[in-house]
Amino acid sequence: MRRKLAAGNWKMNGTPEMLAELSTLSSGDSGPQIIICPPAPLLTRAADVTLGSRVEIGGQDCHANASGAHTGDIAATMLKDAGATSVIVGHSERRADHAETDAQVRAKAEAACRAGLTAIICIGESEEERLGPDCLGIIAGQLDGSTPDTATADTTVIAYEPIWAIGTGRVPTMEQIIETHDMIRANLITRFGDQGAQMRILYGGSVKPANAADIFKAENVDGALVGGASLKASDFQPIIDALAAS
Ligand code: PEP
Repeated sequence: MRRKLAAGNWKMNGTPEMLAELSTLSSGDSGPQIIICPPAPLLTRAADVTLGSRVEIGGQDCHANASGAHTGDIAATMLKDAGATSVIVGHSERRADHAETDAQVRAKAEAACRAGLTAIICIGESEEERLGPDCLGIIAGQLDGSTPDTATADTTVIAYEPIWAIGTGRVPTMEQIIETHDMIRANLITRFGDQGAQMRILYGGSVKPANAADIFKAENVDGALVGGASLKASDFQPIIDALAAS
């Protein structure tokens, strides 16, 4: 039985005042896992605010190395020390802004695992790729290249995020979501056996209170990675509630 997960990515947004939003989020005793990934300077304060609550804290990226001369970067162990339980790796904005490759994303996921963090590995196609002849093959290639050989259901979550749906208000059709998540599930099972069957697959890209319940109907959608709608509890809580009810 896969535990549902609602993860929020604040990206380069957020102020100390906004942390109060976190303390109001809830999912009941056996409801979905909730993770919020604020910008790194807010991590420790976010961990303090959420101490004893249902909300866990995650990082938005980590370096593949444990330490060294990497100005501006953050080691997975540092995120762990700050109170994080997980870290997003390979978000399309990092792949685009920092030219991150699948191999680098895989190394980051391995570093996260060594540090005791869950790696939320992002994959997803551009609009051009979605319209092209081999969209699923491209996503499968990213999945294969970005996921460590040692991945287990405890260490790894996959987030399928079509780039063209992020922050645009556009969402794939349910057929596209189902087909893509089913393909990801089949590939995970082929590669990781039962662990692949237990690994959670999130959908990300313009998830809102109005569309969440429909998206969560898909069998292989185990939750969501949410950007804009995770910034306010009044938007994120209905998404958590829809996930709990799915
Ligand atoms: C994201 O950045 O991971 C994301 C899904 O953003 P949004 O929900 O704003 O589309």
